[in-house]
Amino acid sequence: MIPLSFEFYPPKTDEQRTQLDRSAERLKVHAPEYVSCTFGAGGSTLSYTPETVRRLHQRHGFDAAPHLSCVGGTREEIRKLLALYRGIGCRRLVALRGDLPSGMGRPGDLRYAADLVAFIRAETGSHFHIEVACYPETHPQADDALTDLRHFKAKIDAGADSAITQYFYNADAYFQFVDDARAAGVEVPIVPGVMPISNFSQLRRFSEACGAEIPRWVVKRMQGYGDDSGAIREFAADLVARLCRRLIDGGAPALHFYALNLARPSQAVLARLD
Ligand code: FAD
Repeated sequence: MIPLSFEFYPPKTDEQRTQLDRSAERLKVHAPEYVSCTFGAGGSTLSYTPETVRRLHQRHGFDAAPHLSCVGGTREEIRKLLALYRGIGCRRLVALRGDLPSGMGRPGDLRYAADLVAFIRAETGSHFHIEVACYPETHPQADDALTDLRHFKAKIDAGADSAITQYFYNADAYFQFVDDARAAGVEVPIVPGVMPISNFSQLRRFSEACGAEIPRWVVKRMQGYGDDSGAIREFAADLVARLCRRLIDGGAPALHFYALNLARPSQAVLARLD
């Protein structure tokens, strides 16, 4: 079976913690290589990521990787977080620039994710396996795909070990991106980020903000199902499983599921992949 990882976000309430625990237990049967936990840049979830990483590591026994973003943070804050994560026993990080909520705060000491990767390497040597983000459909703020690819390569040159893509529903975008990255001299694994579909209207809103395209035919199909949540679930799981199958057959080195603290949507896809 291809290596898997699952991404969670930090719960803030007891109810959300229970949901995370339940989902983590269910997803454990798939023996993920690691799980990761997102980080709220310059905002309210700042303090919940370490707590969640500790929970995923100590209570659930996962190799747990915190996401760490530099936007809005100082070098000293990042240094403290790195020490904290070493203390918890983390060996892997997802290093990001992040996004500041609009109109909020100062940009921070490090401007781009490449600067953060270089800082982590300078501070901690080879202790952490560093993952970075990349964008087969191009980052929404990038001028064009090739400029964005150069910025991606800068993160690898700064010391990143592998990359996780933004999610997409068009496998060709991934294959083209990998070809372009290889031609540009990027040799690290590029792992597709897979977004199982649970709440379609939420997904559409989110996709607009992060620049991920949902094909028109998928939108129209979903609209056709109206309130038939059973039909939507089946169609969504088939769609994402077919995408995963193509990615695996095309040589993807692993799959990273944006589980978002739910087990069932990822499991519905994995069940279809055996
Ligand atoms: P960068 O690689 O720094 O790139 C950001 C933009 O700047 C791009 O358009 C790039 O082309 C451009 N750029 C880079 N370098 C330069 C340069 N030298 N000069 C000019 N332009 C440049 N967000 C969170 O807040 N928390 C999370 O936990 C989180 N997890 C994520 C996990 C994954 C797998 C992915 C794909 C995204 C995640 N994000 C998260 C979202 C991410 O923070 C945003 O997409 C953010 O806008 C960019 O982060 P980055 O690390 O890709 O930034």
